[in-house]
This record gives sequence, C-alpha cells and structure tokens, in this order.
Amino acid sequence: MADQNDWDYSAQNGPSTWVSKFPMAGGSRQSPVNIETERVESDHEALSSKQLRWKYPATASRSLVNPGYCWRMDTDGEGTFLSGGPLVDDVYKLEQYHCHWGCSDSRGSEHTVNGQAFAGELHLVHWNTSKYNTFAEAAKAPDGLAVLGVFLKVGKTHEEMEKIARLLPYVSHKGEVVEITEPIDPSKLLPDDNGYWTYLGSLTTPPCNESVTWILFKKCIEVSHHQLNIFRNLRKFSRGEECPCHENHGAVINNFRPPMPLGNRVLRECGSL
Ligand SMILES: [Zn+2]
Repeated sequence: MADQNDWDYSAQNGPSTWVSKFPMAGGSRQSPVNIETERVESDHEALSSKQLRWKYPATASRSLVNPGYCWRMDTDGEGTFLSGGPLVDDVYKLEQYHCHWGCSDSRGSEHTVNGQAFAGELHLVHWNTSKYNTFAEAAKAPDGLAVLGVFLKVGKTHEEMEKIARLLPYVSHKGEVVEITEPIDPSKLLPDDNGYWTYLGSLTTPPCNESVTWILFKKCIEVSHHQLNIFRNLRKFSRGEECPCHENHGAVINNFRPPMPLGNRVLRECGSL
C-alpha cells in the first residue's frame, strides 16, 4: 500500500514519481497547467451571467498547520460561501487555504502564464455543499471541489499575509499547529480585480483527485521578499527528528508541481486585465 505521506518534491519522491503510488496523478484532467493566453476562450457572457461571489468571515480561519510541505490554514467553514461563475448555482464552502512557493522569487507558482512562473501561489480550497455532505465525499466527485488560485509577486508587505507570516515561527516544524486568535480574513488575500481564468482540473498534491473547478485570478497580489523568506524557513521534518542537512537543511521550498498537459480541455476567461 502506498503510504499517504510518502511523497514530496524531492528528486526521489517528487512529482514525476507520484503516479506510481497515486494512479490518479496520471489522469487526463491534471493540474496545474500552463495558461496560454492566446488560446483562452473568452466566455465573458456565459460566465458573468452568474457573477462569481464569495463571503469569508475573518473568524473562519481556525488553525495554522505545518503538514511538512507547505503552510495550511484550516477553517471551520462557518458562514463561508463561494458561488457563481463556472460554479453556477452550486454553493461551495471554504475548507482550508495554503500556499506554494520557490527557493527564489523567480519561481514558486504551480500554474504558469505563457510559460512564466510567479513567486508563489495561494490556494483557497472549497467543497460543494449543494451536492455533497462532507469534504471527503466531495473530493471524489468531478464537481466536488473549487479552488481559487492567486499568484504572488514580490513587492510590498501584504498586511493580511503578515498576520500569517508572524505565526509561522510557531509552526516551524512538521506536525505543528497553532490556534488562531486574531481574525485573519481570507478575502483580503484576494486581488482587487475579479478577472479570472477557469478550467476543470485536479488537486495538485497526491492523491491528485480530478475533482477541482479551478478559478485563477488574473491579477497578482504583492507580498514582500521577506515574507516569502519566512515561508522558506518552514521545516519539512518534525521537531526532534534529525535535520536532513543535505537537502537544504530540510526547508520547505519549491513545493510546486510543474504544469501538466492541458490536453483537449478548454480554458475560459471572464473579465479583462
Ligand atoms: Zn495548492
């Protein structure tokens, strides 16, 4: 049996090896993808007939976790809401949000645009409460999950992200968790323009379920170089475990899957920019 935790971004257990343990990773609806803006279909009319809408109470962010391959904010979903756009009338609830980043500011995003990577990518993971009873049940269904993706570029300090960055030293090692006491508002992590690309894809981490409607904002948010360095200080091993010093001192870096073939899937866009 494949060990659920037996994967990472190293040469030995990295993305090119995932398919041997997680067969879904070899499917034809995998993520991320490269977005060729020339090939995107403008579908403004269909997509904007139901405007993409969301609501996230700042109190929904409950605990910050280091699972050993990123930072992740688990939410209680309470009062959260995502609907419209490609999701039409189905109502999705926020489960968690997390981030991907590189070893330097020139790489780190999972999706790329015309072959260009960004310094990082934030994912807000939602599940379809109109059709399914639990996140686990939704994660198995083709329309079960919706992920909002936000590209990070280096610039000024991001105020809301700073609240997370300040807590990361408390979860520096794998398996550590800190409860959230100061409200952290996920909607403040989204860009101020709603233009997006959308397509049908998968989770970008094993088991790579093909259950995700992707909604990627065209506009980036800015975070500082220092904030990204705080992300890069997370460790992929547990406190008390010996440091794998030959592997960048066990730092969580380059935790992104490279683009997968788009195949005959259609990328649609809504909004300009
Ligand atoms: Zn992700």
